[in-house]
Amino acid sequence: MRQIDLKKASVARLDTIRTINRQIVLNYIRERAPISRAEISYETALQRSTVSLIVDELKTRGLVDELDGESTGGRPPLLLRLRTAGSMAIGVDLGTTNTVVATSDLAGRLLHQQSFATSANAKKTLQNIIDASRELIKKEKGIEGIGISVPGLVDHESGRVHFIPHFKWHDWTLAEEVRKATGLPVRVDNDANAASLAELWFGRPEIRETRDFIFVLVETGIGTGIVFDGQVYHGESGAAGEFGHMTIGTGAPVACAVGTRECWEAFASERAALARYSALAGRPTSGVSFAQLVDRALAGEQAAHEALLETAHYLGVGIANVLKGLSPSAVIVGGGIARAWPLISDRVKSAVEANSVCRGLPPARIVASTLGQNPRIMGALSLVLAGKFASPVTS
Ligand SMILES: [Zn+2]
Repeated sequence: MRQIDLKKASVARLDTIRTINRQIVLNYIRERAPISRAEISYETALQRSTVSLIVDELKTRGLVDELDGESTGGRPPLLLRLRTAGSMAIGVDLGTTNTVVATSDLAGRLLHQQSFATSANAKKTLQNIIDASRELIKKEKGIEGIGISVPGLVDHESGRVHFIPHFKWHDWTLAEEVRKATGLPVRVDNDANAASLAELWFGRPEIRETRDFIFVLVETGIGTGIVFDGQVYHGESGAAGEFGHMTIGTGAPVACAVGTRECWEAFASERAALARYSALAGRPTSGVSFAQLVDRALAGEQAAHEALLETAHYLGVGIANVLKGLSPSAVIVGGGIARAWPLISDRVKSAVEANSVCRGLPPARIVASTLGQNPRIMGALSLVLAGKFASPVTS
């Protein structure tokens, strides 16, 4: 049960119920498309006239399309689905190596994508993001907002970046700068938080129905997004979910971003896997990327497979610790390692079980993300798109 926050309590406005009904109808269309007005009315127990009013409004706002269905004898029914014509959002995945800028429709389908090397100069990176966004806004009509995912600490409400460890960028008014330059609303969040939001709205159906889960984003470091009760938990000043730096042991194969060899990301990140591969292969492997390491493991190369299995073990040890503290019903692993899931899932799960003995609870589901190779770009887009379904539709 949720406690009522008296400081935030306000008198319910007359349009509150209308707004909630509008969200219910939009979400039905999202989940069940193609669906008719009559079916929505039947399933939601909203009156036909109410559903029709809402659908007309959603059509006027350009959020849904209505198309002819198949006739079963009489007049063919009109079926509703989310608008698929044209772009709705720009997503910017600011990564430590590359920055990806993409557009998608309301349903989260990627339409255009481009990327450039991320400059270590924050001003230059900002300018590149602005230039790419302006170009897309000019070319494609109907873009309503920009979402940016960053590998660092963010105040997601103001869109102010506190710190990006990889570049040592401090106190960056990213959302404000991009908003001023483009005239569009801009939302910024940490990459793992954004990816967990994407999993909540655009992931596999059984995860969308899970209201409590942890998203583990494995990359050069490890980030985690916490979803409680169907919402991303940010904590005070957006710093929740820094499990990447919890202590796992000593003598990790690499140092973490902050410099110790004791934390989770030093044991279970892509860099840790590459360091293990280099030691196991018995030959120089310095030019090998993590994606190539996964390719080699999938192709049956022993050293590559073993490097991933050892890394999977430590991934499981960390997941066991997260489970002890938060007891979510699922853990989702995303990033490049998700592609190797068939090779490593047993090892991850056995490490979780071996490290959960004193917990005495049934294990949580541990699954690979279905957001594809870049959960961060889906996360960035979700910062705009989820707002269409989760908060009042007032663009
Ligand atoms: Zn650390």
